[in-house]
Amino acid sequence: MSVQNINVALIGNPNVGKTSVFNQLTGLNQQVGNYPGITVEKKMGFCKLPHNFKANILDLPGTYSLNASSMDESVVIELLLNKNDKLYPDVALVVTDVENLKRNLLLFTQIKDLEIPTILVINMADRMEQKGITLDIEKLEERLNTKIALVSSRKGLGIEALKELIVTYKTLSCEPCTIVSNIDPEYFKRLHSTFPDQLLYKLWLVITQDVNFLKLERNEIRSTFTRSHSDLKRLQQKETIKRYQFINEVLKEGLQVDASVARDFRSKLDRVLTHKFFGYLIFFAILFLIFQSIFEWSALPMDFIDTTFADLSAVAAEKLPSGILTDLISQGIIPGIGGILIFIPQIAFLFLFISVLEESGYMSRVVFLMDKIMRKFGLSGKSVVPLISGTACAIPAIMATRNIENWKERLITILVTPFTTCSARLPVYAIIIALVIPDKRIFGILNLQGLTLMLLYLLGFGMAILSSYVLNKILKISGKTYFVVEMPNYKMPLFKNVAINVIEKTKAFVYGAGKIILAISIILWFLASYGPGEAFNNAETIVKEKFEAQNLSELELENEIASQKIENSYIGIMGRAIEPVIQPLGYDWKIGIAIISSFAAREVFVGTLATIYSVGGTDNEATIKNKMQEEVNPVTGQKIFNLASGVSLLLFYAFALQCASTLAITKKETNSWRWPIIQLVLMSGFAYVTALIAYQVLH
Ligand code: GDP
Repeated sequence: MSVQNINVALIGNPNVGKTSVFNQLTGLNQQVGNYPGITVEKKMGFCKLPHNFKANILDLPGTYSLNASSMDESVVIELLLNKNDKLYPDVALVVTDVENLKRNLLLFTQIKDLEIPTILVINMADRMEQKGITLDIEKLEERLNTKIALVSSRKGLGIEALKELIVTYKTLSCEPCTIVSNIDPEYFKRLHSTFPDQLLYKLWLVITQDVNFLKLERNEIRSTFTRSHSDLKRLQQKETIKRYQFINEVLKEGLQVDASVARDFRSKLDRVLTHKFFGYLIFFAILFLIFQSIFEWSALPMDFIDTTFADLSAVAAEKLPSGILTDLISQGIIPGIGGILIFIPQIAFLFLFISVLEESGYMSRVVFLMDKIMRKFGLSGKSVVPLISGTACAIPAIMATRNIENWKERLITILVTPFTTCSARLPVYAIIIALVIPDKRIFGILNLQGLTLMLLYLLGFGMAILSSYVLNKILKISGKTYFVVEMPNYKMPLFKNVAINVIEKTKAFVYGAGKIILAISIILWFLASYGPGEAFNNAETIVKEKFEAQNLSELELENEIASQKIENSYIGIMGRAIEPVIQPLGYDWKIGIAIISSFAAREVFVGTLATIYSVGGTDNEATIKNKMQEEVNPVTGQKIFNLASGVSLLLFYAFALQCASTLAITKKETNSWRWPIIQLVLMSGFAYVTALIAYQVLH
């Protein structure tokens, strides 16, 4: 018998365990993408069913009803209204939470009314005993005209029975639950006589929704059946009331809850975790622990990746026949891939923690706590985590914005996160502070250098918040937010959900942003390793002749050659070319080269300067510092690194988007080049202006 493929759609309110059911059905056979043209995540998976059936399982975004108020919800409606969509389900699984059946069933009745074969999946069955809940499944099946699968995706119970049920999809009743025309019989009668072949509820949805679907048909329907906005709203409310009346009746017969089972523990914990003082204290303590751990735990694997790729590079350079291709592999591709993989430990640990916080139910308390403050700046309560994660690295931080439902809030968070001081800025700050800020104490205790570093961190956060405020005012994107903050029950996180989330995020980064990072690293490698003309191509002879008399050691000579090469490479030429632009900031062309090459990653700044000042290979910060300290601007006769140019550089690195990987991840997460380009221009433009002002005022 040949395999039969069917489409199954998972639909449900947020937090009912839809993802867990999806994970139970599909395991790791998942693909994540975006719906065309928008940034709503599209999750598909495959599942083998009994009797030679195979299911394509589509996990639709969580939605409270079919009355669309967000982009996520429109996705669900557009699919369910469009029978021609190749993902249109043969059967819909409406996932509900046994503890919130009443609210969850609203969506169920709407789906049923679209006359789609529907199975009601009642999840979290494991909690029934504890909560004193009993269900009369037969009664419910009869009243709701459906088949029910009682499952616990946490314990894996009922999943096999659910698969058996899916296979019987052809025998499911397609009878609607409620008769929508009851809300205004006259109106619906007219509607029906004009479009006799169409489903009434579908017509009603097309009239009331702002979905892009069926443009022509919708206009046609609307032109004949327009009603005032308030009229429509009134009817929609009437519809909701009717649905709840129906649901209440059904549940009266099919559901019993023993109210004596206390909710004490939960409410006590809620009170502490959302407390005006202790709530923040606990949250910041948890954040502190998380970021400590991310730094500590990531250090080892990051070092390992770093040295492994350095070794690989060296082996490739040694073993392969010398030539351009080998250079490309050993100096371009291998370090480029290393530069992508090095992010994995931080991404994986961050998402491990975020998933645990989300799964346990704690994140909802944080959102509740932070929402009010953050919303003033156009951010969401959920923006706190990305903004603070940015202190490790903007890449995982930007990926962590995915759970912000409102597109505008999410976009603003993505755009401002790179202002937070990431760890790649530290080496740059460290060397410049050491150079230009005196190592003195004020008031006997405050170390000036430490104070400067702290100010730079505060400046980063301050800019992020300030620019959110401005963006919130100027960005004209509408998007309603859920006005309900869900307070799910506290639960032990499900290992499977956490693991899948971590794997998925890591994969998304490597495949999505990785390509762009690799491409940019290769371009920058090329620009730094090649150059036109004698000065580059004969660097060795030129340097040897120049230093003939001075009897340099092998290493010193090598450093001088590297320095000569980078000065005359394409990047060197670019550095010189931008000198007129950066001179007003107090920089010379050598700094220009370092700025351009540090676009691959900020920390490259120090390494490039080391090469230019021919101290490469020694890895000794003191030597780089001494060389930099001695450098004099031939035009002004002043030291290149003085207080004015140093502060200017610090500000430049605090604000400029000097990071190709951030651009790549913003492109991936916003699904367009528009936002990363705007981000680059605005941030770097602002950096330029502040650095300019700082230098002009101070020098
Ligand atoms: P979604 O928002 O609907 O995709 O829900 P998730 O799958 O992310 O689950 C929400 C929360 O419910 C998580 O904390 C899960 O661990 C938990 N959860 C999911 N299924 C079950 C279940 O069968 N029993 C219990 N007790 N918790 C569950």
